[in-house]
Amino acid sequence: MARRPARESALERFLRYARIDTQSKEGCDQVPSTEKQLVLANLLRSELAAMGASDARVDAHGYVLASVPATLPPGHPARGRVPRIGLVSHMDTSPSAPGANVRPVVRTYRGGDIRLGNGVVIRARENPELARNKGKTIVTTDGTTLLGADDKAGIAVIMTVAGELLRDRSIPHGEVRIAFTPDEEVGNGTKYLDLDAFGAEVAYTLDGDTAGELNRETFSADSATITVHGRSIHPGTAKDRMVNALRALGDLIVRLPLDMAPETTEGREPFIHPHRAEGEEGQATLQLLLRDFETAGLVRQRRILERIVREVRGLHPKARIELEVKESYRNMRDGIAREPRATLALEEATRRAGLKPRWVPIRGGTDGSRLTAMGLPTPNVFGGGQNFHGPTEWLSVEGLEKSLETVRHLLAVWVELSMPSRVEVPPGPRARARAVAR
Ligand SMILES: [Zn+2]
Repeated sequence: MARRPARESALERFLRYARIDTQSKEGCDQVPSTEKQLVLANLLRSELAAMGASDARVDAHGYVLASVPATLPPGHPARGRVPRIGLVSHMDTSPSAPGANVRPVVRTYRGGDIRLGNGVVIRARENPELARNKGKTIVTTDGTTLLGADDKAGIAVIMTVAGELLRDRSIPHGEVRIAFTPDEEVGNGTKYLDLDAFGAEVAYTLDGDTAGELNRETFSADSATITVHGRSIHPGTAKDRMVNALRALGDLIVRLPLDMAPETTEGREPFIHPHRAEGEEGQATLQLLLRDFETAGLVRQRRILERIVREVRGLHPKARIELEVKESYRNMRDGIAREPRATLALEEATRRAGLKPRWVPIRGGTDGSRLTAMGLPTPNVFGGGQNFHGPTEWLSVEGLEKSLETVRHLLAVWVELSMPSRVEVPPGPRARARAVAR
């Protein structure tokens, strides 16, 4: 192992992890979907062990698990009362952009557009966060790969905090559980996460972007597949016999509501998104994403698809058209609301880090969506990165440091919230009289 400074900063850690190729692969049932994710998994395990996390391990599916023991001394009022707090980040990077040979560029942002190599430009107009980083240090790519701040910024924050806590046992905190997951980007981040082994009672994913932005809401999501069965005949003799599945597929696509598409919606607006079509005359399929913050809205979306399918069946009576809808994930809002302290503590910690907390709904899912559905309330915390999944991805170092500060405060706030509640003394007759007078 290369010699590293004893107290490596979160940025130094990030730069080291970002250079390791951990791209995951779509359409693979195995977890991890790519062997190379294990390179980072094993490195993190050995670094955690070197810090003193005696139980650091990589399990059979490449999940890294470790814990930091509680430090509250005997007699501390919150001792034994602080829930085990889980910190979660994912190790893989998105398959939608190259992830090998990442060469992070550390620079001071002077204003204006940033010209990376390869003709890639980060435009000031499209990146309002850049203005807030003028004169400050940011990290970009060289234009040929993604950066991987999604989610190695989160890993760097968790590793830095773990190092600090294991080095200095005088910082009061409850037990901290760490999980680094593979394959989040391909929808399998929590597929084999052993919740009992993880052992957290409340968890936080560090997988967000802008400093100060927190998430307790994601889309509710289903996926749909429409299959058209046609009849393939040599085109020379096809008259009155061929049933071209592609024509029916085209008729389906043009009927999808344009005002309910990802490219025409934002904020809390729902969408139906056809994202993959394939086929030939004999058979063609269309895959769609259904997304709405209200789970009931997915039923409405399904009805829209059913109506379109009925209409197109009428146009192509000889084709057989099937619609299948599958559940993907559900808005984590209700599951998180069951542990109100989870969001309360995070909000307060963000404030103590000098930021104004903003709850923003995520137009997507996180590992937290499924963890929350599995019974572990898991809000999401910002990490400082922007423009995930492409070569214009960049990281605000200030955002990264604020994320680190927020997590430090978070553990402290949880100790405070876990103190035995003060004994409520019922108001005496005089207090009651005063209340009436008011
Ligand atoms: Zn992510």
